[in-house]
Amino acid sequence: MRASQFLIATIKETPADAEVISHQLMLRAGMIRKLATGLYTWLPMGLRVLRKVEAIIREEMDNSGAMEVLMPVAQPAELWQESGRWEQYGAELLRFNDRHGRDFCLGPTHEEVITDLIRNEIKSYKQLPATFYQVQTKFRDEIRPRFGVMRSREFIMKDAYSFHNDQESLQATYDVMHAAYSRIFTRLGLDFRPVIADTGSIGGSGSHEFHVLASSGEDDIAFSDTSDYAANVEMAEAIAPAGERPTPNQTMARVATPNTHTIGEVSALLKLNAEQILKTLIVYGEEDENGKQDLIALVVRGDHQLNEIKAEKIAGVASPLTFASEEDIVATLGCKPGSIGPAGLNIRVIADRSAAHSSDFVCGANEDGFHLTGSNWDRDAAFTETADIRNVVEGDPSPDGQGSLLIKRGIEVGHIFQLGTKYSEALNASVLNENGKDQVMTMGCYGIGVTRVVASAIEQNNDDKGILWPASIAPFEIAIVPLNMQKSERVREHAENLYDTLRGLGYDVLLDDRNERPGVKFADMELIGIPHRIVIGDRGLDNGMLEYKNRRAADNEDIAIDDVVDFIQ
Ligand code: ATP
Ligand code: MG
Ligand code: MG
Ligand code: MG
Repeated sequence: MRASQFLIATIKETPADAEVISHQLMLRAGMIRKLATGLYTWLPMGLRVLRKVEAIIREEMDNSGAMEVLMPVAQPAELWQESGRWEQYGAELLRFNDRHGRDFCLGPTHEEVITDLIRNEIKSYKQLPATFYQVQTKFRDEIRPRFGVMRSREFIMKDAYSFHNDQESLQATYDVMHAAYSRIFTRLGLDFRPVIADTGSIGGSGSHEFHVLASSGEDDIAFSDTSDYAANVEMAEAIAPAGERPTPNQTMARVATPNTHTIGEVSALLKLNAEQILKTLIVYGEEDENGKQDLIALVVRGDHQLNEIKAEKIAGVASPLTFASEEDIVATLGCKPGSIGPAGLNIRVIADRSAAHSSDFVCGANEDGFHLTGSNWDRDAAFTETADIRNVVEGDPSPDGQGSLLIKRGIEVGHIFQLGTKYSEALNASVLNENGKDQVMTMGCYGIGVTRVVASAIEQNNDDKGILWPASIAPFEIAIVPLNMQKSERVREHAENLYDTLRGLGYDVLLDDRNERPGVKFADMELIGIPHRIVIGDRGLDNGMLEYKNRRAADNEDIAIDDVVDFIQ
């Protein structure tokens, strides 16, 4: 590719609204542009990376025996009603009507659609096991779209679904997928860990998440410092030995002066009945024209699975509560900032997602009523506070009984589930078994956040000049930067020759033939993160030399013109 004919849309300044480094660098390197909240256009430079990530994923999926399909983004409500998720899924599911008034949604995931397909296409146990995958756009109306493509509303996922006669066959495919995921993330050059996970709203039995370790991650992962135990914090908490959990009294000891309310009082405050309080509720603030909300969410839960904070606005809340400010929340709920509530029922209020500042209100319950407390935290310190209301904290013993726990931040880039018969039962997807009887299929599903992977790779590979792409997914592998090409015929000739030679060898080469100063070209190539740079100038050519620089190396090297091809290879 010639840079003069390619959109190099680099930006010098760090965009003000980009909080994490990957978002900043994707904008600065001209990879993506924002269309609206959580919606991004991929520019030519970014798309080259995305396509390389997709190619690696496709290759490993094909090698593992999965068949590629492509399902629609728009899905009819009937299928979701059949699975029961039309009611359960909540506000992340974007619903709409067609011109005939029929209900549809934009697919946040495709269990229903694939199960519907397979119940019609596969009739015999002899056709199983079978695994299908797609690389396709998903839509989730995320409550907190942020960090660019890391948590967007529209994103690309590789989702795969497997169908089986029995659990044993599911386990075998699950293990194959686990291994394929490890190969994929290794080939993508990521520092990752598979961790034991719970199955969230999808349901089912076994599950692992694949996390890229990065301080900007939104998930906490619990590791043992001695064994190879690794789980997401919610899972570690769910299986932590009961005896090791702080008792309500221990947690209560941290509460200076809790406000106590009866369920009746809280119902009155929140204008909800007691049953609704014990379910999950999120109250949304109005979005302003910049897509910002004053108040994001008020979550009431009957247990402490904090990952469910992403849960839904339950049906039946006629007029959501909205608050103008934190003071307003404190006044309405009677919370006292600066203290942490006991474990038990949690009320969390997350305010002002745009700033590096949020508020966290925690409500604990015991026989004599609710204890509402509140606290503020900085975004960066968020987990010190939330850790306080968890039962799993750093230095607790590890749930596997070996060593003590370390907690690190991770970005969830992949998730594999054993679904069992949850969807096949609901949608009546069965095959005829050996005895000629109907038998419900057993299912697994396997997701990778393709667009999120690109951001994660940048989180782990950057320096003060820009991106340091892992070679396998760099938009271009080699940049040729000719100096004074417009004037020097000799430089032009050498640059063109080398460009042809390297392309002929199958490399992705960017020839920076723009009429720009060398400093501008160098800065752009470094920001974009091209692994190899070859500079061609008259002075070097006088001595038969080119200048080579590896993006990860501190210094340049001089290489004889005749050696350059061997050197790169
Ligand atoms: P998260 O916990 O980050 O919200 P999830 O558990 O809801 O993700 P899954 O349903 O497991 O997501 O979907 C499979 C994969 O899709 C995730 O592992 C993640 O890599 C990716 N993904 C999910 N939501 C988003 C999003 N809003 N933007 C980009 N990628 C996403
Ligand atoms: Mg989610
Ligand atoms: Mg998750
Ligand atoms: Mg997940």
